[in-house]
Amino acid sequence: MKKIMSMLTVVLVVFSTSVQAQKNTNKIAPRIIILATGGTIAGSGESATKAAYTAGKVPVDDLLNAVPDIHKYGKISGEQVAQIGSQDMNVVTWLKLAKRINQIFKDNLADAVVVTHGTDTQGETAYFLDLTVMSDKPVVLVGAMRPSTAMSQDGNRNLLDAVMVAADPKSQGKGVIVAMDEKVFDARDVTKTSTTNLETFRSTNFGPIGLIYDGKVSYYYQSLRNPSKKFDVSKLNELPKVEIVYGYADASPETVSNLSTIPGLKGLVYAGMGNGNFGEPVGKALANASKNGIVVCRSARASAGRITLENEVNDAELGFVVADDLNPQKARVLLMLSLTETADRTKIQQNFFEY
Ligand code: ASP
Repeated sequence: MKKIMSMLTVVLVVFSTSVQAQKNTNKIAPRIIILATGGTIAGSGESATKAAYTAGKVPVDDLLNAVPDIHKYGKISGEQVAQIGSQDMNVVTWLKLAKRINQIFKDNLADAVVVTHGTDTQGETAYFLDLTVMSDKPVVLVGAMRPSTAMSQDGNRNLLDAVMVAADPKSQGKGVIVAMDEKVFDARDVTKTSTTNLETFRSTNFGPIGLIYDGKVSYYYQSLRNPSKKFDVSKLNELPKVEIVYGYADASPETVSNLSTIPGLKGLVYAGMGNGNFGEPVGKALANASKNGIVVCRSARASAGRITLENEVNDAELGFVVADDLNPQKARVLLMLSLTETADRTKIQQNFFEY
């Protein structure tokens, strides 16, 4: 009996060790798919010391081969989704990306996705994916400020860090995140703040949610604006048309009235002065657009803060919605997606306070 008991114990120990080993193996070998879209991270120039280069030249396999250490973090594979400078990013590519990521997770092809992307519109893409990817698995956007051919290029380090962040179980359930320059940002809050500086990404209201150093990520807080209900884009090939108009002292109303005549325009984001303000002539043009069925969303040209309802502007009477603390380009993303579901301004306003 004693012998049987000790044999059973051995079997149990071996079994639990192998389960643990399996768990560990899963832990250290997540499957990560890198979706490449171009940008400076895939940029190439003629000289290592001159600034001139062309974005979106280096194919995804070369990007991965340049950073062999990424394979320490999991089973890595790459796919080329686009090869553009992100100034050419568009709704069609956003939809393609969102659909691909949703498919990857639905078919259980990966445990995490990293998207390489130009920095110019990285914040918008991150927020679009944040609102449309239906999974808690990590989706990490990364880019570079210097092309791959430059001296002290930042792309290789950023890519290595992004893969490490994607592989870390702590990155799950955080929505889409951006890993750049040893920081992790929430997709909703992050924006590019400098034209050329390496430390360009900031969350101007709340700061980074995590810090990266020496191959590790530490998280400090998490956004509460990560609703589980996402926008379903699986059957969409385009989005309702929404444009942005910039506010400034003595602006002519034609900037708004001409924009309002664009065929099929459904929404207008106004990047207003201060708390989303406008001068009287522009205000009249916005009111007119709103009366004619265009959803007008007041946002701010200031780099931080939020737009508050009914302060200096009678939003209820004019039928305007406010962007809360989203910058104009992200307000446009949320307005386009909201308009795929409803034209009801109360519901759209609710989205701006929830998403
Ligand atoms: N214009 C480039 C892009 O957005 C800049 C960059 O990637 O840093 O693709």
